[in-house]
Amino acid sequence: MNPHSAQPKPHRPDSVAAPTRPRPAFPVRLEGIGAPGPIARPVPAAPSGVTTAARYPAAASVPTGLGLDSSAVRQAMVTRLAAQGLSHPAVLQALAAVERHRFVDSALVNQAYEDTSLPIGLGQTISKPSVVGRMLELLLEGRASPPGRVLEIGTGCGYQSALLARLVREVYSLERLRGLHDKARDNLRPLRLHNVHLILGDGMLGYPRGAAYDAILSAASGEFIPQAWLDQLALGGRLVAPVAQAPGRQSLVVVDRTAQGFVRTVLEAVHFVPLKSGVA
Ligand code: SAH
Repeated sequence: MNPHSAQPKPHRPDSVAAPTRPRPAFPVRLEGIGAPGPIARPVPAAPSGVTTAARYPAAASVPTGLGLDSSAVRQAMVTRLAAQGLSHPAVLQALAAVERHRFVDSALVNQAYEDTSLPIGLGQTISKPSVVGRMLELLLEGRASPPGRVLEIGTGCGYQSALLARLVREVYSLERLRGLHDKARDNLRPLRLHNVHLILGDGMLGYPRGAAYDAILSAASGEFIPQAWLDQLALGGRLVAPVAQAPGRQSLVVVDRTAQGFVRTVLEAVHFVPLKSGVA
């Protein structure tokens, strides 16, 4: 399919109102995201109540061709991240492939490939690419094969879900704010990712229906790691989450579930939005 061709908007079966937010334009030529990566493959129907990102028809892209190629800008970002120490080939490939500019508002498109967090509405932010890459590397570290089922807490705009879709077999992503859950669904729809399931719900409870998870990744920082996450982590699985160590001081924490129990490792300082309970 030519992603530049402007096609009539398909009927949206999930909502009465068409999206009003214009798809962000990038000041360079846009190319399609392409199919999910080689290890991403379609999965059987999701449990009811779950939105599979690819269940809805792709929205037509707005052509904005202005000459250059956004993949070159993305590749430059990846080269900078690699120079800073990011090294996992699949993570670098995913960062080079997923069009971050499509996940931010049009006014921020020019900053999409800077290593910075950006507002995504409702007081939330899309994480810095270097931090997203670091967390994804931690998820894949030391594994002979990629994780199968992964639980993501904090879908936000869906950017990290799109990266995960290329790296693992199946992604269950929870978001507590309806506005962002809807935004992520709109952002991910054109990518037709059959292995991403978006769930509106309180991530502090995890998502028992998809458990056990080979990996759990949180994009929001709590005071502690919820027991539900530990319960839903498979034996041999790994959890990566920012956790407050003291007021105003968060660190990235890795928890490995081994036959001997949970092994917790505290890593570098980070700065994430807070993990909150309930759905809003
Ligand atoms: N990975 C996201 C980052 C979003 S920021 C992206 O790529 O855009 C973190 C998100 O966590 C916010 O959207 C916030 O609403 C969400 N969040 C916070 N507490 C949550 C909870 N208990 N359950 C689900 N989502 C939560």
